[in-house]
Amino acid sequence: MIPNAFDYVRPTTLQGAVAALAQHGEAARPMAGGHSLLPMMKLRLAGPDVLIDINALSELHGVAIGPDEVTIGAATTHATLEHHAALAQALPLMPLVAHQIADTTVRNRGTLGGSLAHADPSADWPAAMLALDARIDVTGVAGSRSIAAADFFEGLFTTALQPGELIVAVRIPVQHGVRTAYRKFRHPASGYAVVGVAVVLRFERGTCCGGQIAVTGLADRAFRAKGAELLLAGFTGQADRIERLLHLAFADVTPLADRFADAEYRLQLGRTMLRRALTDALG
Ligand code: FAD
Repeated sequence: MIPNAFDYVRPTTLQGAVAALAQHGEAARPMAGGHSLLPMMKLRLAGPDVLIDINALSELHGVAIGPDEVTIGAATTHATLEHHAALAQALPLMPLVAHQIADTTVRNRGTLGGSLAHADPSADWPAAMLALDARIDVTGVAGSRSIAAADFFEGLFTTALQPGELIVAVRIPVQHGVRTAYRKFRHPASGYAVVGVAVVLRFERGTCCGGQIAVTGLADRAFRAKGAELLLAGFTGQADRIERLLHLAFADVTPLADRFADAEYRLQLGRTMLRRALTDALG
């Protein structure tokens, strides 16, 4: 339970952090809340020689609400997102998801960017990012780029981030006329989502005209249930439509299985969480 020896640096500029990452290459890891990285180091699943603490980078903190887009710094904690009144107005799904992450201690330290970079298949934020069509802005010595959430999660603990790249911010479009919901079945020990489902329903003149359904915990990465999304236009909660939605949502998914939840149980939890999230979103 004791990590390998490592050096610790705490740059105060984004440029300094990027330079430090480039200088140390694969031997360095950025650290945000440390809530996943430090346990991995203690278990010797990760052994960086240099930890680059990114918490002093002011560019990585805070929430900016624009008319069309919300920008969230990567090192913004879950707790900040849980309690941000203006964010709750612009994107009600964000505090709803933040509130369901683990407990107060984890929410006070864990960060949005850390969660996305870690890409735990049971983390809550990836589902929200997919449902909200977020973009993830990253920077490194080779320059900056923006990655659609849909292209970011590549597999179990694997993302589109290149070595030395840092997530700087997440940008989320503000959609008007939407109703959102998030339902998860919590793992009783960790609080992680055994399965979590985020739903965004788009309304025009009181009628649902489509939306996004995103799922975490069920497979090796969060995903959009695109087959089911095709049935959202005209959705009013009709029982037969819900059954078809539930049938299509996970048709081509290979479910994860572990000691807590085997594949069939996980699928059933997915259907139940989806049904509840749809009902919540309809109000
Ligand atoms: P760190 O641990 O600092 O970093 C994690 C990884 O991301 C590392 O590889 C690090 O190098 C990299 N990284 C960090 N920031 C950046 C960046 N800006 N750019 C590039 N790479 C970066 N999560 C949930 O979603 N739901 C839960 O219910 C939940 N329960 C938890 C319960 C416990 C007991 C614990 C310890 C954690 C739990 N978590 C849960 C995870 C927690 O929410 C953290 O968000 C998550 O561990 C990662 O965030 P962090 O800021 O701590 O990242």
